Amino acid sequence: MGDRIKELETWGFPFKTNGKYNFVKKIHRVPSFMHWAGRDQKVLFEQKAREVGTDILNRVMIIDLLKQNGRVVGALGMGLREPIIYIFSSRAVVMASGGISRIFPPATCLDFNRQRLPFGTGDGIAMGIRAGAEMVRLEFFTRWAGLHNLCKAGRGTWIGVVEDAAGNPLSGNRNASSRTQIDAAVESYDDVTKAWRDGRGPLYMSCLNTSREDFDYMCWALSNEGNQVLLQQLHDCGLDPRRTRIEFSSYEPEITGGFAPDTKCATNVPGLFAAGGEVIGNMKRSASPSAYVFGKIAGESAVHSARENVFADMKSCSETIAWHIDRLQRMRLRTQGARWQEATGACQDIMGTYCCETKYENLLNAGYEQLLRVRRRAEQTLCAAGQHELGRCLEAFNLMDIAEAALLCSRERRETRLNRYDPFRRVDHAEENPAMDKFLVYSRKDNQASFRWRAMRVLN
Ligand SMILES: Cc1cc2nc3c(=O)[nH]c(=O)nc-3n(C[C@H](O)[C@H](O)[C@H](O)COP(=O)(O)OP(=O)(O)OC[C@H]3O[C@@H](n4cnc5c(N)ncnc54)[C@H](O)[C@@H]3O)c2cc1C
Repeated sequence: MGDRIKELETWGFPFKTNGKYNFVKKIHRVPSFMHWAGRDQKVLFEQKAREVGTDILNRVMIIDLLKQNGRVVGALGMGLREPIIYIFSSRAVVMASGGISRIFPPATCLDFNRQRLPFGTGDGIAMGIRAGAEMVRLEFFTRWAGLHNLCKAGRGTWIGVVEDAAGNPLSGNRNASSRTQIDAAVESYDDVTKAWRDGRGPLYMSCLNTSREDFDYMCWALSNEGNQVLLQQLHDCGLDPRRTRIEFSSYEPEITGGFAPDTKCATNVPGLFAAGGEVIGNMKRSASPSAYVFGKIAGESAVHSARENVFADMKSCSETIAWHIDRLQRMRLRTQGARWQEATGACQDIMGTYCCETKYENLLNAGYEQLLRVRRRAEQTLCAAGQHELGRCLEAFNLMDIAEAALLCSRERRETRLNRYDPFRRVDHAEENPAMDKFLVYSRKDNQASFRWRAMRVLN
């Protein structure tokens, strides 16, 4: 990571604050942070990409990978404004489309009020599944806590104390919070949920005792980690967290699994590499550093692989391309039918009802059968009034592919595993099974689900 920071600095990334690297020790999953002004990182990445001659296509949604003789040879894309189909021929592909949002019902009733990118529907993972890539930990989910009404990841940045309705701190320590030590309750979804269930809610984030200096620092930090809109909203509503406690609760579940590439970021599918938010374990941690480091490794591996391969004759993919175009046209030409909101909502309902806190064989089977029915019906009836809606329909199908994998993997893991951050509970298998202290590897071969158990280590 150190080398990567040095390199990114040469691209203009302002990693230093007042001339120094600003390391902050915290009670958090990550023991030590480096705080920096990362707000413009996407702009800086784009500038660098253009500088080295990269073609950038905006508002193009990648629909699926194209394969020839078991190898990924390109991808199919669709314009989200104009009805244009893009056929990309490539000697290697890096998947970097982020994590899975919107697969469970939202914490508030607004589907796009999500802690993470709401249009990150695990498209890369779904495309990977369809291409035969191996996935792990799709049966595990975690939860995060944060402000109740405007869901945003970044709770670790709050310099305040989580209190119950009566004003008692959940952690028992009113002075727990400062710039160098966040309140432990911020970190714990379990504490937040337990206090709520014990009748202590509503719960609040209180910055009433936060010093002015720490509060200003917190606002600076929030503005640099994607919470600018939250600060703006508080401002627009006339809410000053130093005077008013803001309601705090736990968010919807978030699947922690994804691609399981090797340390060179190569997947089991030749020509396909993966990095960032859609990868699991040591290589993910839901954080940017893994995207910086493994994104670069994936890029280098892809270049290496590309040098050893030639461009494929895309005529061999014409059947797949025609199938996709036909499906898109059917959705566009239907004048009546179901909309993407119904398809996404049905998928979320299945995940929330059959594959969430309470899991057992009958429930998982029922959820799986229901999902197959929903997908069949969606294929027959979904209609899209424009390119934007077409994209949303495709997201719904991607979510269904991941939901199917999550249901099947949850059925396969016949045990209860009480990990701290993403516990897995089966009512009908209440004990931990030592033989299952492994990754459950899921893939699809010839349209059939395939499973194997793999030791939890990063492969070379
Ligand atoms: C509010 C918030 C605060 C955060 N704070 C921090 C923090 O302080 N520190 C930290 O280290 N990490 C933080 N994270 C996590 C960090 O943002 C992610 O780990 C990181 O962005 C992952 O990078 P990525 O490139 O893998 O995915 P992303 O940044 O999610 O990028 C994926 C891109 O793929 C695009 N995409 C998706 N599907 C398709 C498709 N089908 N076709 C074409 N394009 C597609 C998306 O539009 C997106 O632009 C935060 C996340 C959130 C949401």
